[in-house]
Amino acid sequence: MEANGSALTNKYSEGLPGARYYGGNEFIDQIEELCRKRALEAFNVSPEQWGVNVQPYSGSTANFSAFTAMLAPHDRIMGLDLPSGGHLTHGYATAKKKVSSSAIYFESLPYQVDMKTGYLDYDKLEASAALFRPKLIICGASAYPRDWDYARLRKIADQSGAYLMADIAHTSGLVAAKEVNNPFEFCDVVTTTTHKTLRGPRAGLIFFRRAPKGEKNSDLEDKVNFAVFPSNQGGPHNNTIAGIAVALKQAASPAFKEYAIQVKANARALGETLVKRGYKLVTDGTENHLVLWDLRPNGLTGSKMEKICDYVSITLNKNAVHGDSSALVPGGVRVGTPALTSRSFKEADFVQVAEFLHRAAQLAISIQATSGKLIKDFIVALDKSEEVKALKADVE
Ligand code: PLP
Repeated sequence: MEANGSALTNKYSEGLPGARYYGGNEFIDQIEELCRKRALEAFNVSPEQWGVNVQPYSGSTANFSAFTAMLAPHDRIMGLDLPSGGHLTHGYATAKKKVSSSAIYFESLPYQVDMKTGYLDYDKLEASAALFRPKLIICGASAYPRDWDYARLRKIADQSGAYLMADIAHTSGLVAAKEVNNPFEFCDVVTTTTHKTLRGPRAGLIFFRRAPKGEKNSDLEDKVNFAVFPSNQGGPHNNTIAGIAVALKQAASPAFKEYAIQVKANARALGETLVKRGYKLVTDGTENHLVLWDLRPNGLTGSKMEKICDYVSITLNKNAVHGDSSALVPGGVRVGTPALTSRSFKEADFVQVAEFLHRAAQLAISIQATSGKLIKDFIVALDKSEEVKALKADVE
């Protein structure tokens, strides 16, 4: 926060260290160099094999710059569908509208999770990719509680000569701590936000594989750097880059490894308690930092659960669950453990969090039974409920 709120915000520095379009960047260059070095160290990759651009303003612009580097207009891409847990920027379109610029400028064929199990359906992805022959396969998600099989994805990408890109925005802190599978072993490009499990300021990073001249990927460095500036951005936010450098130093520390282990243990405790209480989680559990809670068996929407949680001082968000009939009526909520783990919560604390969530869900069910299905009537009933006030007092 100190770096982010510093005078570094005042300096323009279009270009890269040592090759700027502005003077006066001696110290800005040092900061960006330090940030790049720490980014490679935090993810345990060597500067001979990987490079990184630390200038993307955020995750979405990092992704679009990566696409600009690897693709031509109308090239084919495959990413995880949003209702399956994927991110908007991975080619999201509805039946009626191309929503993300990644679907407007490229031809997108999303892949899905298995509708019964909620797990990624690699066989189906392989069969679709063999027909569609994408130029790029994107893996990574915003709401997927399980790990990724990067080796399998590499094989599928190779069958069509496609690039493989991992967007590890959600799990990058767990990747840095080696608490989930390592996408750097198999991918050509890795993007991430810096503000989720990595616990830094809001921004993005693009890692690109290096290769000797003439080999596949030998041109990625120039293409990625050019795609960030001048193709998609102007001056980098130097205050943010300094903040990322601080976060990356922390991410490489033994304390961060402990944090990542605790984030996962807490998510497991939260998930197990909800399952014990009879609720349905997507894939019946988690092996990362979040649980995706399917509320449809309880007759609730994600919106109502989010609303009652707002009333009782619990912050979470409504989220689509695979099989939802409309993305406008998400059937679940997504609950993550990183923030409360930063505030020293352990497994027993998350059992208590789950008990509060259980009380909130039961209250929502009983309030809905009298208020009816409309959210506006539900809110009126929430306002009046003494039990909601009592739960809020207990949570606080
Ligand atoms: N990629 C993934 C997987 C995400 O979950 C998100 C944000 O939620 C983004 C990219 C976009 O990041 P930003 O909101 O910083 O543009």
